[in-house]
Amino acid sequence: MHITILRLGHRHMRDKRISTHIGLVARAFGADKLVLDVRDPEVRDSIKKVDNEWGPSLEIEVAEDCMEYIKDFKGDRIHLTMYGININDCINEIRKTGRDKLVIIGGKKVPSEVYSLVDHNVAIGNQPHSEVAALAVFLDRLFQGAELERKFDGRKKIIPQERGKKVIEFF
Ligand code: SAM
Repeated sequence: MHITILRLGHRHMRDKRISTHIGLVARAFGADKLVLDVRDPEVRDSIKKVDNEWGPSLEIEVAEDCMEYIKDFKGDRIHLTMYGININDCINEIRKTGRDKLVIIGGKKVPSEVYSLVDHNVAIGNQPHSEVAALAVFLDRLFQGAELERKFDGRKKIIPQERGKKVIEFF
């Protein structure tokens, strides 16, 4: 199951950090590709820097036309929004198709067309919070925790410890 994250509404001045965090969550929580709606080299470079140290995993792309991207996607299209169906009531159905997934998250106001283009509008609870939190919870519930055991073939690797920090570096 290949997972693509589409981040809508990226604003160059305000959203660099949050879009970078979306990329880091996508990569650490089992997604394969991040699609942004605008080209922002700083966001790309920050995510690639982490990839270079900790293991390559995330493909990054810019969509020329996001609505066309959503329409053309082959697989399940899922929009995360507080107005959707509570994840508790739909995640089993979404998981069991086994099809590739496009997970759409917003920033500023999401165009109303998105709500009707997708197969599922999913709420991580029906309260407003954050696109980063929504994405992390969605992916964790989709993979039921298995994504946290994923192996990254990086230059650096953490040896988990009760206390302190142990990192092996491969050259
Ligand atoms: N009015 C927005 C909405 O539809 O969820 C909240 C805007 S929030 C600043 C930006 C993004 O965070 C939203 O587009 C959505 O993808 C995500 N988000 C925030 N709260 C959410 C929730 N409870 N469930 C799912 N996604 C959420």
